[in-house]
Amino acid sequence: AKSQGGQRYAFFDESLKQQLFNRVQVEADLRTAIKENQFILYYQPQVSLAEGRVTGLEALIRWQHPEKGLIPPNAFIPIAEQTGLITTLDTWSLREACRQLKEWQSAGLADVTVSVNLSAQQFQDSELLSLVATTLSETGLSPEYLDLEITESCAMSSPACAITIMQALTELGVSISIDDFGTGYSSLAYLKQFPIETLKIDRSFVMNIESDDKVASLCDSIAHLAHRLGLRVVAEGVETEEQLKFLVSAACDIVQGYFFSKPLSVANVLPFASNFFWE
Ligand code: C2E
Ligand code: CA
Ligand code: CA
Ligand code: CA
Repeated sequence: AKSQGGQRYAFFDESLKQQLFNRVQVEADLRTAIKENQFILYYQPQVSLAEGRVTGLEALIRWQHPEKGLIPPNAFIPIAEQTGLITTLDTWSLREACRQLKEWQSAGLADVTVSVNLSAQQFQDSELLSLVATTLSETGLSPEYLDLEITESCAMSSPACAITIMQALTELGVSISIDDFGTGYSSLAYLKQFPIETLKIDRSFVMNIESDDKVASLCDSIAHLAHRLGLRVVAEGVETEEQLKFLVSAACDIVQGYFFSKPLSVANVLPFASNFFWE
């Protein structure tokens, strides 16, 4: 028994060491990547069901690693959060997304917004307001085309503070979406007070619409709730026609997911958006 315990301990210790090594390694790599500008944004189309066209693009960061290739955000965002590097990445994503949309607008893309993900750290940063204001003025993007996505857990962790920050942001003219809605604890009293425009139903619900009636009626309830509060509903992670049909019946406003399109590289966005029509 004793030697088993010892083995378990050794195993635990090894995996901890491995994790730590990985973290230290990724952190060092991330610092280099920031210096050498190894990040790019992909853009996932958001389709308005009423308009049958692409009305939004969600900017999603990827790391173009010189040896490892394209690395998805889940492999480095958590480490960027632990090391505080996340605000540097978010600042970059924000500026790049605004710059890119402005460029697409000059090429003729009209009435399409860009959504940028903000980490909790960036959302609570005292410089956020001036960062957003400066970014808009330097890129020349009109504020009504910028949407900022904040997760439900970030918004609800200190709702009173969140309201103040959100109000200041909306005074700049940008809009706010609550991301991953339904995965955390939400206070309806606060939800009503948030100056937001959109609730994004989390993919973990959407993917179970067909297999679980309770999840389906939950999605339906979220859509009703959102509309009662005067908010739009975006469903994320829509992959199948059955999910889409259900979401249409639930009066969901906007759909985002592989069914319509995976996140696209910059070169593919304009061709997709200008040729897309759904009825
Ligand atoms: P998220 O904000 O919930 O973004 C949606 C994720 O779901 C994206 O993953 C997207 O590619 C994926 N997705 C969309 N439709 C489907 C679908 O139909 N099926 C499946 N299986 N997946 C779908 P991605 O691009 O890997 O991003 C993961 C997360 O990384 C994002 O989740 C977001 O939390 C974070 N992230 C991405 N870019 C940034 C950024 O610039 N800043 C911060 N702070 N976080 C970011
Ligand atoms: Ca998001
Ligand atoms: Ca989400
Ligand atoms: Ca999600």
